[in-house]
Amino acid sequence: MTVIPGGLRTLAIERAADGFVRLVFQVPDHRHNVLSREALEDLAAALDLLDGAPPTGVVIVSARPGSFFAGADLQRLAALRDAGQPALVDACDRGRRLFDRLSTSAYATVAVIDGVCLGGGLELALACDLRVATDEPHTALGCPEVKLGLLPGWGGTVRLPRLIGPGPAVEMTASGETCDGSAAERMGLVDACVPAGVAVESAIRLLAIRRRDGSIERRRSRMAEAVTLDPVEREFLESTAAAAILGRTGGHYPAPPAILQTILAGSAVDARAAARIESAAFARLAATPVAGNLLRVFAIGDRNRRDPGVADPLVAAAAPVIANPAVVGAGIMGSGIATRHLRSGFPLVLVDIDEQALTAAVPCILDEAAWDRRSGSADPTAALGHATRLRSAATLASCAGVDLVIESVTERPDVKQQVLADIERVVGPDTVIATNTSTNPIGRLAAGLEAPARFCGMHFFNPVRWMMLVEVVRGPATSDRTVAAVVAHAKRLGKVPVVVSDSPGFLVNRILMPYLHEAGELLREGVPAERIDRAARAFGMPLGPIELYDMVGLDTAFYAGLVLSAAFGDRIEASPVIPALVKAGRLGRKTGAGFYRYAGTGPHARPAGFDDRAGEVIARYAHPPRDTSDRVLVDRLFLPMLLEALRVIDEGLVRDVGDVDLAVIHALGFPAFRGGLLAWGDSLGAAEVVRRLEPLVDLGLRMQPTPRLLDHASSGRPFTP
Ligand code: NAD
Repeated sequence: MTVIPGGLRTLAIERAADGFVRLVFQVPDHRHNVLSREALEDLAAALDLLDGAPPTGVVIVSARPGSFFAGADLQRLAALRDAGQPALVDACDRGRRLFDRLSTSAYATVAVIDGVCLGGGLELALACDLRVATDEPHTALGCPEVKLGLLPGWGGTVRLPRLIGPGPAVEMTASGETCDGSAAERMGLVDACVPAGVAVESAIRLLAIRRRDGSIERRRSRMAEAVTLDPVEREFLESTAAAAILGRTGGHYPAPPAILQTILAGSAVDARAAARIESAAFARLAATPVAGNLLRVFAIGDRNRRDPGVADPLVAAAAPVIANPAVVGAGIMGSGIATRHLRSGFPLVLVDIDEQALTAAVPCILDEAAWDRRSGSADPTAALGHATRLRSAATLASCAGVDLVIESVTERPDVKQQVLADIERVVGPDTVIATNTSTNPIGRLAAGLEAPARFCGMHFFNPVRWMMLVEVVRGPATSDRTVAAVVAHAKRLGKVPVVVSDSPGFLVNRILMPYLHEAGELLREGVPAERIDRAARAFGMPLGPIELYDMVGLDTAFYAGLVLSAAFGDRIEASPVIPALVKAGRLGRKTGAGFYRYAGTGPHARPAGFDDRAGEVIARYAHPPRDTSDRVLVDRLFLPMLLEALRVIDEGLVRDVGDVDLAVIHALGFPAFRGGLLAWGDSLGAAEVVRRLEPLVDLGLRMQPTPRLLDHASSGRPFTP
């Protein structure tokens, strides 16, 4: 084998005696291969070299196990957005023309896909004559562009429908879901799925066979033509896919319907014309505010992925890597946290003083940990595997030898302080101790500990399986070592950790409370609960505030409200409605009645309409009615959240302004298409926010512009950097 030197930084060209050339990619300075400008230039240079002496065939492969190509370089895309439509169209055309060189070359080409093959990476693979994927669990093929408000712009919408059919192509690109090697083989996306050890060899053999039997030439001409789609099939696809897309996106995301239209229009014409349709559609989508917001959310998420949570990288590097964690408390939250650990492959000790609670929790935890989304049921083999790694116990003695304990017992400061002190007595001196408290100050819970430096908050959100955020709360004595260890551990659980300072409600509940409080005030003014919830959902929230009250539990909300009103009573008074409902036994979904009635009890109870008996309680505390246009409803619910977020920034509660948006998206389901709370504020502009607050200021301090807001309004500076 000869290696052709070419001054290339991202790939090596290896020419073998059998006449096959391997282009072996390894893009430096990235965890995954990405199609950076340099990688694209190197590919072009390599193809120039091959044109001079065409080989029998070319194999495109990655030198990084687990990473074929993770996609395009998004920083470059963000810069292109600013350059305008012609620059975007040109970037699509240039990338596609480069890939077209593979599909029109004098030699046959095959991509060997091991690991992630996403976005532009998949489009590169699609431009090859054949694709061979490995059967490794890390192999994942997909078009995630839609999650950034975009569509594949380097030939994906042209080649996919020609290869796998327009219906599956729409499903794949509009959902952004990935598939593994064998699913890709079943749908015809790859030509073979084989073990990683024989992938290159198999790819070369397959290429040789397909060259000889002429099927490569036949496929090339089919890929250049229009797709035959009879009108009935087309109409069916158009109406069902459009309805499904609308259902999934609520009409807030322009990319999925644009993908459907682009694929349908592009399928009806030849590949050349389809390419023009794709470039234009990509440029239109990239210019939308939604794409701008989603790209920014991606960028702050990316920063978070790289951030160790502490300033000193040396401390972060030296922080303990958690291998043997324990969870104390097997209630709603403890069970969710335990499940997450098992799913992430950790062994786990689970402690609860209530043996009955433990016996009830364990089978649910194992079932949920073994849940297989594709089959819609628990996988018995996986459940068995998890069972061998889960050790449940009724005493804390089982925590001896663990390196992290997450306390998640009842939310009572006296109980928690006792449990934490007991934990400290049992574990070794290096064990990190965290609490999942939602309201107790970390400093207060740390008061009884011998070594509070190893203690911090690790606040998960309900339901743990959906909510990605974890607040890592730094108490007054918490060490950097502790913070870094917990941040890294949360990431290994697949969560998004945000480090915040110790303050009532921490970050998320502090911002949530004004929203819930305002919803309660609107109810007292006579606005129907359904209307309030509808307005919030139309804004893009997954649940309205009244529905959220019922889900969280009115007792829990009451307690959290007390803590927050004690700290910030000038603007968040504890509403008398909530304790009155609690007193009437209406705790929300879990008791079958809160503001709404429910068919059944518990988290899966179905809402059965607003309950007049709740209405009677509210009427006791009625306020005079006010103007309640839908616009005003949205302002009333969301502007107090924005004001609270600005106060949080003033107080230095977060390490980075972007953390506010990351937190509201991943803990509250704040719509990502709006870019988060601060980005939503920016979409209005600070001056407009001040203007919208004017008719509301008589409601009290909670609607008064803060000095920071006024400062942004006068300078015109955005809230987000
Ligand atoms: P829960 O009542 O469902 O469960 C608490 C569990 O702790 C019970 O099983 C109880 O038997 C156990 N327990 C009590 N004392 C114990 C002790 N001394 N030793 C061991 N186990 C003990 O409560 P939950 O909703 O799971 O809440 C747990 C923690 O999570 C609380 O701090 C709460 O504030 C926090 N939290 C709750 C939510 C939520 O929405 N429920 C969200 C975020 C955080």
